[in-house]
Amino acid sequence: MRRGKRIAVLLLALLLALCLAGCEALEQAAAELWQGALPAASFAAEPSAAPSPGPSATAEPSPAPVLLPSAATAREAPPFDGSSPYAVLAENRPSFAGKDEPGAPFERYSPLDSLGRCGAATARIDRSLMPKEPRGEIGMVRPSGWQLTRYDFLEDRYLYNRCHLIGYQLTGENANEKNLITGTRYLNVQGMLPFENAVAACVRGGGTVLYRATPCFRGDDLVAYGVELEALSLGDGGEAVCFHVLCYNAQPGVEIDYATGRSRADGSITAPAASPSPEAPPTPGGSASPAPEEAQADYILNTSSMKFHLPSCPSAAEIAPHNRKAYAGSREILIEEGYSPCKVCKP
Ligand SMILES: [Zn+2]
Repeated sequence: MRRGKRIAVLLLALLLALCLAGCEALEQAAAELWQGALPAASFAAEPSAAPSPGPSATAEPSPAPVLLPSAATAREAPPFDGSSPYAVLAENRPSFAGKDEPGAPFERYSPLDSLGRCGAATARIDRSLMPKEPRGEIGMVRPSGWQLTRYDFLEDRYLYNRCHLIGYQLTGENANEKNLITGTRYLNVQGMLPFENAVAACVRGGGTVLYRATPCFRGDDLVAYGVELEALSLGDGGEAVCFHVLCYNAQPGVEIDYATGRSRADGSITAPAASPSPEAPPTPGGSASPAPEEAQADYILNTSSMKFHLPSCPSAAEIAPHNRKAYAGSREILIEEGYSPCKVCKP
């Protein structure tokens, strides 16, 4: 009996020790996740590729171990392999950590470079910068490398979004060409949004966050291979928000030519058989032979005059081949893209 009791006490102590060690490890893992992999919780739902917008992304971080790609700088980050929408950089420390000074809110956008590309966008964000109005139209902005490209296997069919460097929800900056890049839907929704949501939640709660989004280009590429995001909550040493990541400008199932923005399906994802596409095969940036595309086109575009025509329009026949593009899709999207209807055929 006595011996049994002693064993029980020993067991209890052992359990307690294990638990303490375990809790510490868990706590540390959770803290690392919170700082290094904020959106881990939302990525749990990733196999369904369901976007998880909204403030829910700030839910309790999952303590599940996540092996993330990491590197010292964006340039050294491993290439996108489909396993994670982002890589951790510089051990997750923003480069302005330690140099952060409290002060008035601001937002700064780099001028476009000679290739029309965006540079870093930086802001010290507090509640006063957040938008008070619903978002307006951004279709008139054509970021570098912009292509109107659709694939039927993508959730909203279009490969690219006009992707805000600093999200609209943070600074209310909308149709600013210095803040919009050609970004995949995956970059926008899977990559950047959960981080933006975390910043937004902190700011909404009264915090101030120093934030920088830097599009990363190789050489003269017109499309960024990723966006480097850094954030640090001020006044609390980054306790609420602290991260430094590279969100990949990639899209599973699509191979992107970053030099031009053109792309092609890599064959790893196909359209679900249940929804055959009567319209068109993917239109990879006009690199394919035009014949089969034109047969299924709803409209013919003149990419120089930015007019669109019915395929039967006589003016459409006169468009120079290098300005001509067949398009299958909606009129509204074309107009949002900046195209206007031909006055002859009135499409
Ligand atoms: Zn016409």
